[in-house]
Amino acid sequence: EKTPVTLLGLGTMGTALARAWLGAGHPVTVWNRTPSRAATLAGARVAKTPAEAVSANPLIVACLLDDTSVEEVLTDTVLTGKDVVNLTTTTPAQARTRAKWAHERGARYLDGGMMAVPPMIGAPESGGYVLYSGSGPLFEQHRATLAVPAGTRYVGEDPGHAALHDVALLSAMYGMFAGAAHAFALLRKEDIDPTTFAPLLADWLTAMAPAVHQTADQLRTGDYTKGVVSTLAMQVAGTPTFLATARDQGVSPELLTPYFTLMHRRLTEATGGDEDLTGVIDLLLRPEPTA
Ligand code: NDP
Repeated sequence: EKTPVTLLGLGTMGTALARAWLGAGHPVTVWNRTPSRAATLAGARVAKTPAEAVSANPLIVACLLDDTSVEEVLTDTVLTGKDVVNLTTTTPAQARTRAKWAHERGARYLDGGMMAVPPMIGAPESGGYVLYSGSGPLFEQHRATLAVPAGTRYVGEDPGHAALHDVALLSAMYGMFAGAAHAFALLRKEDIDPTTFAPLLADWLTAMAPAVHQTADQLRTGDYTKGVVSTLAMQVAGTPTFLATARDQGVSPELLTPYFTLMHRRLTEATGGDEDLTGVIDLLLRPEPTA
């Protein structure tokens, strides 16, 4: 007997979730503000109001636009004894407040951060997954059901930690995209096919990615010189090459300079140039000095 699921929100993501659970044989009750979006979902039971949807099943999944819409939708529902799984993207602070809000209404609460785009839902081979934090017992009880749309990673009892991991991972992704944008821009005026360059870029980023393990080890031990092969002094000395090349190619250095500025500041402030780039993290944890 498959666990029935109530799903609030049939946007692009909510619809993909509903299809995955229906496809796996779970009874699904859905509610969406715009009722026409439920019409394409064969097999789902369509509730007329959020209250009706919530009363239908013990497990309630919300996948709405933002935290405000979650509060609006759940406000007139009876949450006593319910298991609320909120897959809506929010800040960690909003997730913690929403957890407290749900607890006050007698519900258990699990927050989710979706590391997937809709085509990855119901496609385990895609590598998409959902980060979860909050009620451990809720997660354990519904683990199999939650694993239907995508992989699951539980990151602890603090309901804000799924959102925090989510934002941290996406922030790193934006850094990567920023670097790739600069790289493509450098080649733009040359007779170099971007589709020839892309495989080199993907391979290089993949080869460099494991460097994060050394960063983590240095942070944990507090020894920022541990295992260093490319010193900060050497890397700062190399920055003029990057800036001159950007200038010669007619490319703005604006994506690179903020990082180079921090590298330079760390080199100036630190006791030696024997670290690599980990010290930059410490600089981010205190306000920029006024010029
Ligand atoms: P959509 O914009 O496609 O859907 C938004 C959903 O929220 C719709 O069901 C919409 O209802 C509903 N909604 C918006 N405002 C309200 C409101 N005030 N009251 C009731 N319902 C409301 O977004 P997605 O489905 O793509 O995303 C849903 C969540 O998933 C977001 O938090 C998003 O950040 C997250 N997410 C999305 C990813 C993606 O790639 N799409 C990836 C990872 C996370 P209506 O149909 O009536 O407009």
